[in-house]
Amino acid sequence: MLRVEDLSVAYGGLAALRDVSLEVRAGEFIAVVGPNGAGKTTLFKAISGTVPARAGRILLEGQDLLAGPAAERAHLGIAHVPEGRRVFASLSVLENLEMGAWPAAGRAVFAQSLERIYALFPILAERRAQYAGTLSGGQQQMLAIGRALASRPRLLMLDEPSMGLSPVMADTIFDAIRELHRTDGMTILLVEQRVAEALDACDRGYVLETGRIVLDGPVGELSADRLRQAYLGV
Ligand code: ATP
Repeated sequence: MLRVEDLSVAYGGLAALRDVSLEVRAGEFIAVVGPNGAGKTTLFKAISGTVPARAGRILLEGQDLLAGPAAERAHLGIAHVPEGRRVFASLSVLENLEMGAWPAAGRAVFAQSLERIYALFPILAERRAQYAGTLSGGQQQMLAIGRALASRPRLLMLDEPSMGLSPVMADTIFDAIRELHRTDGMTILLVEQRVAEALDACDRGYVLETGRIVLDGPVGELSADRLRQAYLGV
């Protein structure tokens, strides 16, 4: 579904991604893990079009995303839940979800999406009329995921959904992501610093370090030793 080929991104003279290649097949749950500053957020921004690529290709079902305007990507079926959530604080929960449904694919089936989102996160149904800014961090993360789902994405990209959350809340969020993958067959690309949880939930993983993929494979093959090697360079 998504293929990234030899992608390079730089901020001024600083290379943030170098020759990164990865693939996400339909229905797969892929995790990209790596330490702080490895380039995980930059990878997502390049895919969703908020930072330009210096070299390489990003193909969604064979279509070269870099050939068209970035603003069109939401309409192509990519939903990006950014780091730090960024819900619309002064809009209600329901209004946030409505905002998510602006791509045509989302608008047509909004009532159905809403039912699914509320089933996944019942607290959002209870708080539908409440301002999003008054929700807890975990509830805002649920809302950010719900807003992405309202666009009816073919590919859901989640940037560190557990960031800043308590371990219990992070587990709740991971359970919901797993459920989306298993029950709805959602194709998911996740970046995470919580390596163990991310790899536990996904099908395949990539390890990103200082802008390069240093390890990849099915979760069973990403053993603790190999991960330690990749992280510590020993
Ligand atoms: P984190 O987990 O801390 O978010 P990350 O793996 O997502 O880290 P990025 O945020 O993609 O990493 O950053 C990759 C590199 O690019 C880092 O060296 C970072 O300092 C740099 N960088 C990120 N954004 C910018 C920017 N807007 N301008 C300049 N440099 C940047």
